[in-house]
Amino acid sequence: MKLIDGKACAQQIKAQISKEVEMIKAIGFRVPKLAIMLVGDRPDSVSYVRSKEKTCKSLGMDCQTYFLAADTPEEEILKLIEKLNNDRTIDAILIQLPLPDHYDSARILDFIDYRKDADGLHLMNVGLLHLGEPYVMPCTPKGIMTLLETNGIEVAGKHAVVIGRSQLVGEPTAQLLIRQNATVTLCHSHTRNLPEITKIGDIVITAAGKPNLLKPEDFKEGAVLIDVAINRTDEGLEGDVYSPRTREALEQRLGAATPVPGGVGPMTIAMLMQNVLDMYKIKNHN
Ligand code: NAP
Repeated sequence: MKLIDGKACAQQIKAQISKEVEMIKAIGFRVPKLAIMLVGDRPDSVSYVRSKEKTCKSLGMDCQTYFLAADTPEEEILKLIEKLNNDRTIDAILIQLPLPDHYDSARILDFIDYRKDADGLHLMNVGLLHLGEPYVMPCTPKGIMTLLETNGIEVAGKHAVVIGRSQLVGEPTAQLLIRQNATVTLCHSHTRNLPEITKIGDIVITAAGKPNLLKPEDFKEGAVLIDVAINRTDEGLEGDVYSPRTREALEQRLGAATPVPGGVGPMTIAMLMQNVLDMYKIKNHN
């Protein structure tokens, strides 16, 4: 089995971004800038935001983070977004999800200027993706497609099984696979006989957030597994399928797989950085 090394792929992408930012600096232009907004203080969200901020700066780009209390009035959040939309030095805006339950997340995300929507979750960007003309792609699905491409995994004509239909991961991933001429089966929590479906998948993408969702024998011999999930268990981080317990049996069964950690996770952040740079370049007609 080939181990699909997301960490190494993400490193290469980040090195390229860093080089481009160096060049931008060298000719005396301002560097790309990301604004991040975190509402509330969920420890996992705080650590994700810190890591995005750190990566952004390590690549030579600017990053401004806004920490807002969990009881900030929605109108105040919208006012801040409006200010960032109108700020010509901000190229991309990211609102760390999930927002606390009492907010209307869709309303808040749709308030971002879609040309600054770093995560590609604005209604306009969702629509453009469905039309096959994406302006910006959501980071995790973009990372999955990049991993398939850079590892020479042909998608056209294959049967891809996607498990999970969230707007963040499963649904846009299925759309991107369809656009690349895969035949896609999209599964969710109401899907019956899941292993019957995964057994006929050439490529299986798991994004359910359920450890032990499938066993190694639920895959066709030589299939490709992209395990997106990050499950925190007593034994550490695990995917929906990939774990220290299943690794050996997966190695015997599969053609290729992403590990957890070190697979899709590092790609998500690299794609975010790529989106920031791309938005900067579009704005500055480079
Ligand atoms: P989510 O919004 O909770 O969506 C989970 C999806 O899985 C839903 O569509 C749900 O179906 C489906 N599902 C749940 N249990 C299932 C089951 N037993 N069989 C089949 N489908 C089932 O989660 P998400 O935001 O998409 O994230 C999914 C996982 O990916 C999480 O573990 C998350 O931590 C991880 N993630 C990783 C990255 C990364 O960078 N690696 C980025 C984002 C997310 P229904 O629609 O019917 O409820």
